Order: sequence, then C-alpha cells, then structure tokens
Amino acid sequence: MANSKFEYVKSFELPDTLLPNTWVVVRIDGRGFTKLCAKYNFEKPNDKRALDLMNAAAKAVMADLPEITIAYGISDEYSFVFHKSCTLFERRASKLVSTIVSTFTAHYIYSWSTYFPDAPLSPPLPSFDGRAVCYPSVQNLRDYMSWRQVDCHINNLYNTTFWALIQLGGVDNREAEQLLAGTVSGDKNEILFSRFHINYNNEPEMYKKGSVVFRDYELVEPGTHNAERDADALAEPLQHTKSQAEKDRKRRGKAPIVVQHLDIIKDDFWDRRPWLLS
Ligand code: ATP
Ligand code: ATP
Ligand code: MG
Ligand code: MG
Ligand code: MG
Repeated sequence: MANSKFEYVKSFELPDTLLPNTWVVVRIDGRGFTKLCAKYNFEKPNDKRALDLMNAAAKAVMADLPEITIAYGISDEYSFVFHKSCTLFERRASKLVSTIVSTFTAHYIYSWSTYFPDAPLSPPLPSFDGRAVCYPSVQNLRDYMSWRQVDCHINNLYNTTFWALIQLGGVDNREAEQLLAGTVSGDKNEILFSRFHINYNNEPEMYKKGSVVFRDYELVEPGTHNAERDADALAEPLQHTKSQAEKDRKRRGKAPIVVQHLDIIKDDFWDRRPWLLS
C-alpha cells in the first residue's frame, strides 16, 4: 500500500501532540451512569461494589501503562496523571486518551461479574468518555487533584445527607432537595447528627476522600531524607548518580500498585512521596 495514489489522505490527519514538559491528566467519566445506577440498583449514595470495580479497573490501567504516575477516582470518574517527562505515543492526545478509555472500559467490563455476580451485564454496556489536559506546574497539578478531592467531599456530604433524609427520614426527593437548599456544610453535619445520629466523620474513608492509586514505594520522613539524598547525589560522580536514579526508577516500577483513601490536598501525602512529582 506504500505510495499508492490514495496515500495523500494521510495528510488530513491533524497533529495533536500535547505541550512538552507538562503534566498530562487524562480524566475519564462514565457515560450515563445515572441510568446505569438505576438499572443495576446501585446502593445510594455509595455503592461499594461499583467503587471497588472502578478501583480494580484503574489498578489494571496503571499496571498496563507504567508511564502513569498516580490516579485519583471518585464516583464514575478517574483521573490518570502522566509524568511531565512522559513521551508515550509522542504525547499524541487522541492516542493517550483513547488507550486509557478503552483499557479502562475493557477491564471494567471484564471484572464486572466479580463485583456484581448476581447482575449480569446487558446492553447498553458501560462506556466512558475521556479528555486530556496539560498542567504546566506542580502547583497546577496539585490544585487539579485538590479540585477533584474537594468535589468528592462536597458531593459526598450532600449525597449522604440527601439519602439519609429519604432512606431514614422518610421524605421524598423533592422535600429532601428543599430541606438542603441553601445549607452550608455545618448545617448538613448537624442534620445528619441531630436527626439520624450519624457522625459524618465516621463515614468510610473511600466515600469521604475518594481513591488514590499509586506505586507503593518507600515513605520519606518530610524534611530529612530528601536533603541528605541531594547532598549525597552532589558528592557522587555523575555516572553513579545516573545509574542510581535508573535503579530507583526500576524499583519504583516494580513496587506494588495500591489503592488508598488519603488526603491529597495537604502537603503531607506529597512530601512523604517526593518521587511522585520529581
Ligand atoms: P454523563 O454521561 O454526562 O457523565 P452521568 O449520568 O454519568 O452523565 P455524572 O455527572 O457523571 O452523570 O454522575 C454520575 C452519577 O452516577 C452520579 O449521580 C453518581 O452519584 C452516580 N454514581 C456513580 N458511582 C456511584 C456509586 N458507586 N454508587 C452510587 N452512585 C454512583
Ligand atoms: P500499534 O499499537 O502501534 O497500533 P500494532 O502492532 O497494533 O501496533 P498496527 O499497525 O495496528 O500495529 O497493525 C496491526 C497488525 O495486526 C498488522 O500486522 C495486521 O496485519 C495484524 N492484524 C490485524 N488484524 C488481523 C487479523 N484479523 N488477522 C491477521 N492479522 C491481523
Ligand atoms: Mg458520568
Ligand atoms: Mg461523573
Ligand atoms: Mg494497532
């Protein structure tokens, strides 16, 4: 087929390489999951099986694509972060997004029966959309992650109160909505506690904080190890430092992929895992 008279059509393909040296976030989101929740009777406000399934699919994506540094999931969405030095698919957006979306969807469907053994899938099957966004600085990237986690908190507090009013308080959807209109978070905590004896702080961490997926490498005591390492590195010949960095990278690549429900807004998470953003 090389050099056929048809080949000129290739020139219609437009370049879509992402800006170099920026953190690439691919966020996927379930299509029409409001309907899917109803079809498979997801428990409200949080169906643990569905969240565990999202997390299993995200872990599988990270295992398939070692270039992903960290991922964060809530509800029917997951954000996958590629290191700013990543050159996978020459950083072509459509390749990156479509690969993540299809890998995730494939694993989601593959693992469905493990988490929903009594509810076999039938068309329309679950599917996901995706987009890629570049963040030029670590601060921008951390603000992005914080944005998603704040969203998780706001939505979960609202949904927990909303569904408590309905499931335990016996009001209908419209009444629950009216009762919550104009409330701030303190009001919702108060409704939960005074009316239903629910202390929001005791709700499961996965619901309150979402899910963080990363390679579980050694933890660093903030303010100590780092500085020592840098001093050591400066004292070593360049060659040695390089091979050490390469060894570190390989060890990190082999570290087990874990799902944890941690605060990623505060510095602590990042300070203890400096390799994530270095
Ligand atoms: P779109 O295709 O535009 O994304 P959508 O119906 O998926 O439409 P979203 O804004 O993505 O809309 O919202 C997802 C819906 O699925 C929310 O209502 C959310 O509460 C629900 N949902 C997702 N995961 C779970 C879960 N594990 N348990 C209960 N509900 C869930
Ligand atoms: P990339 O990830 O870059 O797409 P690739 O290995 O998938 O790498 P392609 O250019 O997509 O490379 O080529 C797909 C290969 O699979 C070709 O060699 C093609 O001949 C082979 N292939 C695809 N479908 C079939 C099929 N049904 N029977 C036999 N060979 C097939
Ligand atoms: Mg959705
Ligand atoms: Mg969503
Ligand atoms: Mg191919």
